[in-house]
Amino acid sequence: MAKEVRHILGLSGGKDSAALAVLMHKRVPQMEYFFCDTHKELDETYEYLDRLKARLGIRIEYLSSERGFDHWLDVYGGLLPSPRMRWCTNKLKIAPLEAFVGDDEAVSYVGIRADERRSGYISTKPNISPVFPFKEEGYDLAAVKRLLEESGIGMPSYYQWRSRSGCFFCFYQKKVEWVRLATEHPDLFARAVAYEQAHRDGRTYTWTQGETLLELIGRRDEIIIENERAEARALKVRDQANAPLAQVLAATLDEEEEFGCIACHV
Ligand code: SF4
Repeated sequence: MAKEVRHILGLSGGKDSAALAVLMHKRVPQMEYFFCDTHKELDETYEYLDRLKARLGIRIEYLSSERGFDHWLDVYGGLLPSPRMRWCTNKLKIAPLEAFVGDDEAVSYVGIRADERRSGYISTKPNISPVFPFKEEGYDLAAVKRLLEESGIGMPSYYQWRSRSGCFFCFYQKKVEWVRLATEHPDLFARAVAYEQAHRDGRTYTWTQGETLLELIGRRDEIIIENERAEARALKVRDQANAPLAQVLAATLDEEEEFGCIACHV
């Protein structure tokens, strides 16, 4: 007898995948929820996943790479991952997902919203077919927030100071978010600095382009002011043109930073 098609939904610890779980958990009762745990996540992320489990009555499978970030960092010769060299996504997110699915036929539910430009899928395995319910049904940011509020789950608490889920040292962070990490979690900021300083052979790898974290934090006030100006510009764009969200976001983010990684920031 043919094996049944599996239905899977990857939670990133972010709002969009959480809202998708809210939308789908009654529609697809056999859904398997999973979280690819890099072990470099914020405590707030684990708390948010606990809240989701409690509110929706779902089980979440925590998937981990057999070997963690530090092992792979070693394999890559200490090269810190970056938007152009995103080995972390492959090793810590995609490989555990593909091992979890194996050769089974699976439908993977992805929480990309109707108002986002990004598309595509994180796995190239032909037995994993992605579907995008928010895109197909026109759910935008406001609708996602509504789903989360009405379910009593709300937004992850880290959104008060950071715009994305993922590792505490994620290189997709905006500079102002590094500044805020130093305030909210000085211990984690210190650990991120230690990764940059781990090379004694003259090589310099940095998490953020063009400067080390210590140089960045030395510019703390300047970065905060720059960010306030960027936010003011974004509000102006929105107010003047009733602009779509993507355009508003583009006014505050570099192109490369705009939406982050599809495997980690959904
Ligand atoms: S959250 Fe960022 S650092 Fe972590 S695996 Fe994803 S892209 Fe890499």
